[in-house]
Amino acid sequence: MTTQQAAAPLSSIVIVGGGTAGWMTAAAISRMVAAGISVQLIESDQIGTVGVGEATIPSLRDFNLALGINENEFLRAVQGTFKLGIEFSNWGNVGERYIHPFGKYGRKTHGIDFHQIWLKQKHRGGQADPGPIDDYSISIAAARNGRFSRPVANPDAILSALNYAYHIDAGRYAQYLRDYAEDRGVKRIEGKIISVEQAPDSGNITAVKLEDGSLVDGDFFVDCSGFRSLLLGETLGVPYISWQHWLPCDRAFAVPSAPSGRPRPYTRAMAEDSGWRWNIPLQHRTGNGHVFSSAHGDEDTALRKLADGMEGQAIGEPRLLRFVAGRREKLWEKNCLAIGLSGGFIEPLESTSIHLIQSGIFRLMALFPDAGFDPVEIREYNRWLIEEYEHIRDFIILHYRATERSNTDFWKYCQTMEIPDSLAAKIELWRGKGRIFPAGNSLFTEESWIAVLLGQNIIPHSVDPVTAMLPPEATDRFMQQLQTIIDQAAQSLPSHADYILANCQAEK
Ligand SMILES: Cc1cc2nc3c(=O)[nH]c(=O)nc-3n(C[C@H](O)[C@H](O)[C@H](O)COP(=O)(O)OP(=O)(O)OC[C@H]3O[C@@H](n4cnc5c(N)ncnc54)[C@H](O)[C@@H]3O)c2cc1C
Repeated sequence: MTTQQAAAPLSSIVIVGGGTAGWMTAAAISRMVAAGISVQLIESDQIGTVGVGEATIPSLRDFNLALGINENEFLRAVQGTFKLGIEFSNWGNVGERYIHPFGKYGRKTHGIDFHQIWLKQKHRGGQADPGPIDDYSISIAAARNGRFSRPVANPDAILSALNYAYHIDAGRYAQYLRDYAEDRGVKRIEGKIISVEQAPDSGNITAVKLEDGSLVDGDFFVDCSGFRSLLLGETLGVPYISWQHWLPCDRAFAVPSAPSGRPRPYTRAMAEDSGWRWNIPLQHRTGNGHVFSSAHGDEDTALRKLADGMEGQAIGEPRLLRFVAGRREKLWEKNCLAIGLSGGFIEPLESTSIHLIQSGIFRLMALFPDAGFDPVEIREYNRWLIEEYEHIRDFIILHYRATERSNTDFWKYCQTMEIPDSLAAKIELWRGKGRIFPAGNSLFTEESWIAVLLGQNIIPHSVDPVTAMLPPEATDRFMQQLQTIIDQAAQSLPSHADYILANCQAEK
């Protein structure tokens, strides 16, 4: 066994790209590790950013907390609203809908997981039939009633089971973080990179050259250059692994519209003939988009469906975005780490991209390098992030595979496509007795898997044998009382619009 010699600390970091990924990285580095390190961020107004990315998941709260950001101030700055989950309509079957909530379902009794109790009642049937599991979630009850409040701390109260994320204007979030990072010493450089220089021996990146001829050098480069992957992909040649055979959607039209009515406290994902549409309500506008597979549907039809489904007047022209689901073979190579779209992309069905940015940043902090760039640490970073990407990939594929729709070629393809073994094993285990065990660093908990599996009609054949100890009549009463408590608690909450008005209304 060899003992590693400590190498010199980093003296300069260059972040390439000023989209959500670039500014989140800059803000985090400026807050957590920047003492004595020069941090420069290069971005090009001429190239611009991808300009979408409005729906988030609850983990963004941890990121903002780590930065010491005040939540109400942040929501005012980004025209934010609260998000209790995602409503999926027409996914299992045309005409069906369910919500994937962020909070928990029901509560345990006799130490038994709630979904097993629900399943037991479902199998008993008749009078005991519990109805949809959605009826036992406080987040769903609040969402359906257009109500919101932050969760209470008392773990015995049903309102402690609420959990939430945000809908944000991503451009304003990047601007907010830019101010934050610049206040803490990050230097922004405006300019277009035209070439990248590497050390002849190690292949490490040494500098990037801008259009005006200037060179920006550094010890460590964070590639936040978007889909182009200027450093990791183009310069270091790290290949892209495509998941298009599992996730065939490869195009999206996006367009904002004027707000129509009071903002819903949830995102909507509406399945269409060759993809799906999103609806994301912010304070000042609604984000709309249509994600589709170009192998199964044409652009004109996608555009028409987007326009037909919109509730408010469009603001501007729809923009077409092209992508291929997948990831780079490695996210960190030599002295270059890719964060954001430069490292990979999974379509926005569960709003996971900003989470992957944040996860990459937190892992970077945990494995922050010195100038030695220890390959063992780089390997560990790649292992962790790749695992996380693949867990998310499997969860997204589940939405497509677990469909009973066969009304178009797209859905026929999804219903019959081969799926990763890891996902097939999960579904098989679930079908037996309703058991689901997400892996250690999986973003999506048991509750999330249950939401989609049951929401899309995969009902286990049997139940956990431990439910035999549940006394039938007491269980009936428990379920009824729970429903009543949830309904009453949801009704007691303020409307989402009033809550925003009282706490975080943006200036007009
Ligand atoms: C259709 C769609 C919908 C999405 N919806 C969501 C969502 O709801 N929720 C979510 O979490 N995520 C969503 N995402 C993902 C999200 O938009 C991105 O993860 C996020 O915006 C981060 O992008 P980025 O910073 O990596 O890249 P970009 O925004 O593309 O930024 C790249 C930066 O690199 C700079 N750059 C590139 N080349 C050069 C060069 N040569 N010289 C100088 N600068 C350069 C650009 O100027 C820009 O500043 C969505 C993505 C798509 C495609």
